Amino acid sequence: MSDLLTLREAADVLGVDVVTLVHVIDVGDTIPTPPVPKDFKDVVFAPDDIERFQIELRRRRFEDFKTEYADVFQEDDAPGARHLEFGPGWLGILMEFCDGLREFQNAGYRARLRWGKEKFGALRLFTDCADEIAAYVGERRGIAYGKSLRTCQECGEPARLRFGHSICLTLCDRHKHLVGEPDPSRDGIILDVDAWSRQQRGDQG
Ligand SMILES: [Zn+2]
Repeated sequence: MSDLLTLREAADVLGVDVVTLVHVIDVGDTIPTPPVPKDFKDVVFAPDDIERFQIELRRRRFEDFKTEYADVFQEDDAPGARHLEFGPGWLGILMEFCDGLREFQNAGYRARLRWGKEKFGALRLFTDCADEIAAYVGERRGIAYGKSLRTCQECGEPARLRFGHSICLTLCDRHKHLVGEPDPSRDGIILDVDAWSRQQRGDQG
């Protein structure tokens, strides 16, 4: 038993913070071999588990994407720089968007992805593009946004926006537990926070 690793020890070996590691376990698709206790701070790892978690963390950092799309996505390393701050289930949307940027590049325009994030359960992508193509790129950003609200951020399966009491995320049935108890006043009612906010403003005005 002594060769088991605690959560802290595993996080140190993997070079991630404990919060990230707990999130991966909470998602439920990559879990340690020893039984997972209800309280995640008591989680232990078998030595053999480390490699599987390494692979999963690499996937979550979009490492393969960064290599394949180095022509359209150059990660900013400056202090305070933003990165790809969303779940791996949106990889397909990200690639489709970057394929579009690549087409613009091939046509001779400046078209780069700078960073992206999840906000209110939707994918927001930030680009650096030539003025002539700004409207087209904006349209494709909107398409990516719309798709993200129908795609589980964790696994890419069909999904909808899930409202917990303190968080909302776009998740499938298998991952909806990640927002905690659903908030009945909003869950299943608000499916796009931006559209809902616009509507609220319109109603008032
Ligand atoms: Zn899912």
